[in-house]
Amino acid sequence: MQEVDTIRAAVKRRAVREPVHRILGAREFFGLTLGLSPETLEPRPDTEILVERLIPFAERIAADKAVCRILDLGTGTGAICLALLQTVPQATGIGADISRDALSTALANAARNGLSDRFETLESSWFAAVSGRFDIIVSNPPYIRSSVMATLEPEVLNHDPAAALDGGADGLDAYRAIAAGVVAFLDAGGIVCLEIGYDQRQAVTTLFEASGFTLVDQAKDLGGNDRALIFRHGD
Ligand code: GLN
Repeated sequence: MQEVDTIRAAVKRRAVREPVHRILGAREFFGLTLGLSPETLEPRPDTEILVERLIPFAERIAADKAVCRILDLGTGTGAICLALLQTVPQATGIGADISRDALSTALANAARNGLSDRFETLESSWFAAVSGRFDIIVSNPPYIRSSVMATLEPEVLNHDPAAALDGGADGLDAYRAIAAGVVAFLDAGGIVCLEIGYDQRQAVTTLFEASGFTLVDQAKDLGGNDRALIFRHGD
């Protein structure tokens, strides 16, 4: 029977530690169904917490300005941006990524969830190809220290793309790049929202304070670890 063959093949893949949602090819995130591809990080429930924390900010901006322009750096599947677009009807978003595979997956995910008219993609390494100003600049960048990569679970190490995980020697390379460029792309009253590793709250806050930002909100993940930071420019 064909079903039995399908199940047998799936079990074989799982037995060698391929994640369930990679096998299924898609994962639920904030009520959206998101397709996965080789160069996209599998969206995590912890990142739903970031989205949840960001929504009141997006709603406030949308109420004040009738628009809310979002830039999602390293968009991957498009998860963060698409979840915000789904929740805030006035919002529009750009998902930027260095990976063409990710950009085509994000575009397909926008279509799959009926959000294509408010979402576009941009091939860009951080701000390199970005123009214009945004109300929300958000990122779940790679933040794992290079030396820790080899210790990750096989599901993560062998199936999530290294480019979405490896944050360099101290795990902070992406935050440095974002902090260095972000002010020029932020509209007045705009905010920056970042996912972080469990031990990075102080280091990332210090980095952004040095670029003139103030921490205005933060959230812990489902495991009780620091996971999301929200900054605005100025005091
Ligand atoms: N949270 C992911 C993990 O634990 C890491 C994601 C990232 O580096 N942005 O595997």
